[in-house]
Amino acid sequence: MAKTYKIGIIRGDGIGPEIVTEALKVLDKVGSVCDINFEYKEMLLGGAAIDATGVPFPDETKKGVDSCDAVLFGAIGGPKWDNLERRLRPESGLLALRAHMGTFANLRPAVVYDELVNASTLKPEVVKGVDIMVVRELIGGIYFGQPREYLKDHSYNTMIYTRAEVTRIAKVAFEIAMKRDKRVCSVDKANVLEVSQFWRDVVIEVAKEYPEVELSHMYVDNAAMQLIRNPKQFDVILTGNIFGDILSDAASMLSGSIGLLPSASTGEGVGLYEPIHGSAPDIAGQGIANPLATISSAAMMLKYALGEMEASSKIDHAIKQALKDGYRTGDIGAYDAKTICNCSQMGDVIVSYIK
Ligand code: NAD
Repeated sequence: MAKTYKIGIIRGDGIGPEIVTEALKVLDKVGSVCDINFEYKEMLLGGAAIDATGVPFPDETKKGVDSCDAVLFGAIGGPKWDNLERRLRPESGLLALRAHMGTFANLRPAVVYDELVNASTLKPEVVKGVDIMVVRELIGGIYFGQPREYLKDHSYNTMIYTRAEVTRIAKVAFEIAMKRDKRVCSVDKANVLEVSQFWRDVVIEVAKEYPEVELSHMYVDNAAMQLIRNPKQFDVILTGNIFGDILSDAASMLSGSIGLLPSASTGEGVGLYEPIHGSAPDIAGQGIANPLATISSAAMMLKYALGEMEASSKIDHAIKQALKDGYRTGDIGAYDAKTICNCSQMGDVIVSYIK
């Protein structure tokens, strides 16, 4: 009998609705091929939620996500809401959603497809074969630390990590490394920040439980440089919230476009699956966004949240095959393209490759 999963859908703002539509097309196709049913529950977050309800993270969404097996999310934000008070801005809604769901581990694979080695701004020999997993702590650190305040003549935020927070994210990184090349590079700023020295000390403690995994440490400024200089040296990068945010955007350019990179945010409960990019207001409404990051996020959802490995790898395979056959959206259109697609056409192409 076909299995049924309840999937929360948050389209969000800007290109969010466009890219999520394509991911749903692909999920429906893979569902029909693999005998899986998806029941979608649409929910509001960010600017769309502000317009409809006055707040960026409505109670209905809070209750809704708890009742799902997994949540697929596009992106939020845009200039329309930029001048609102901080707690009412779309971004505050997303942070509150992540905190509510307890999704402390953000997994951001940065993989360079062989077909797109020319799409990177770096030399092909530098990026060919890159396969990094960035494990970013998502619901702690400076984005959430208290106290925080904007004042007239000075302002401040607080970067704080507890032993429990560092331990649980470090364990995620080591477990993932065990299934990969068994190398973890923990990125911090321990030469300057006490909180980073603490992070490093706790990671060293956790590493004792994983003697097979080689642990190294790197300062974040050096890590930014090394990602560009020699990205192939990395297997798993373990890092905190703000450093992970910045480094994973940098890592995205190894692959050629931010529109290619998916992410999974997991914790003890329901997981959140989303592209790493934002709502791209500059191209919203034009139908030209690259939907592959969101389609890949749906594949990660099948794998990590639902354990549907076959369905997940069918999507990954379809993406690789489409790229190999020269299908490109505009952001990667200058590189070995045979057919330039808009957002919807790329969704159709991926659907057609799922057998
Ligand atoms: P962005 O990621 O939205 O866009 C950066 C650049 O990448 C833009 O030129 C954009 O056109 C391009 N781009 C992004 N996704 C693309 C895709 N799928 N296909 C083709 N090109 C793509 O970052 P930004 O411009 O700094 O932020 C815009 C808004 O998004 C802001 O309101 C910001 O707060 C919000 N944001 C949201 C999230 C999220 O929802 N998770 C993450 C980052 C930023």
